[in-house]
Amino acid sequence: MSELIDRYGRRHTYLRISVTDRCNLRCTYCMPQEEMAWKRREEILSYEEIIRVARVAAGMGIEKVRITGGEPLVRTDIERLLTGLRSIPGLRTIGLTTNAVLLKRKLPVIRESVDNLNISLDTFHRHRFIELTRRDALPDVLDGIEAALDAGYRNIKLNAVVIRGVNDDELCDFVQYTASRPVAVRFIEFMPFAGNSWNDAQCMPMNDMLNVIERDFELTRLPDDPSPISRDFAVMNRSTGLRHAGTVGVIASMSQPFCSSCSRLRLTAEGKVMPCLHSPLEFDLRAPLRSGADDAALARVFMDAVGAKPKEHPDAHEMLGQLNRVMIQIGG
Ligand code: SAM
Ligand code: SF4
Repeated sequence: MSELIDRYGRRHTYLRISVTDRCNLRCTYCMPQEEMAWKRREEILSYEEIIRVARVAAGMGIEKVRITGGEPLVRTDIERLLTGLRSIPGLRTIGLTTNAVLLKRKLPVIRESVDNLNISLDTFHRHRFIELTRRDALPDVLDGIEAALDAGYRNIKLNAVVIRGVNDDELCDFVQYTASRPVAVRFIEFMPFAGNSWNDAQCMPMNDMLNVIERDFELTRLPDDPSPISRDFAVMNRSTGLRHAGTVGVIASMSQPFCSSCSRLRLTAEGKVMPCLHSPLEFDLRAPLRSGADDAALARVFMDAVGAKPKEHPDAHEMLGQLNRVMIQIGG
């Protein structure tokens, strides 16, 4: 089957798979205040359907998948999907993005099939966590991270969305967290999605974050990945001279986008292929999957999505004008 190369020569090797639009948190930056109408069970792809799609994608050069959502760990029997994906030839890496509320409980099975974990955490303050997520679960999240470290994960990425005036006073606390823990903290610039009340003033650009951090810590740039999404740095504490076990990085999707080296596609929980997180374009796989289409027809849907992928995402204001989905429905 053909490889997934777009009009600009970008080869797609990475598929982010959302397995649910449901979540046990209600993060303000990810979903609207009012309760959402969740998709019905029959509207979202079954595990068998997801595994079939992943097998077709692997045949087209997808080497890495990441399971996300919504919160993937709230979907029943997620272990069954992870085990099924493990058996697909060509899929070299399986990652999971989670809010870690249920991580400690599910870790024994996750450890067997998931190569790397991305965990979201935006604050170390319990009252602020409740305001940001509308749930009181910070102790579970912190326990989940420690349990994952104890289970031997050494490549955990800890993602924090930085919102000016909300949690930007904790940048150095996050850097300090890496002093003894071998985790990669990654600060994410706040992005606009439908219903998340984004505004310019709350979006703190990478350079402003780095200026704050560099007052207390010396940062040394690390080499980029082949398809980098973050700028990563080794850390040394200026006052103690201590070199940190972990690293810090910034995902500057708004101020310095990484579109030119983007290698990602997304599959939503209801079976749409999205070539770009910030574009309303989507290509349906569910209808062909459920009407007996062969693998070649499914592959054509991937080719159509890649063929239509925009060169880059528009700036924030243009993006605001075309928002059609909330983040939790796309799958972050
Ligand atoms: N529930 C899981 C979690 O929170 O890790 C996975 C899904 S969540 C949608 C995936 C990632 O998207 C999280 O790291 C979250 O912080 C990020 N995210 C959600 N809304 C965002 C926004 N408006 N700007 C930047 N990142 C956002
Ligand atoms: Fe749930 Fe993750 Fe969205 Fe927060 S960011 S509401 S944890 S899906």
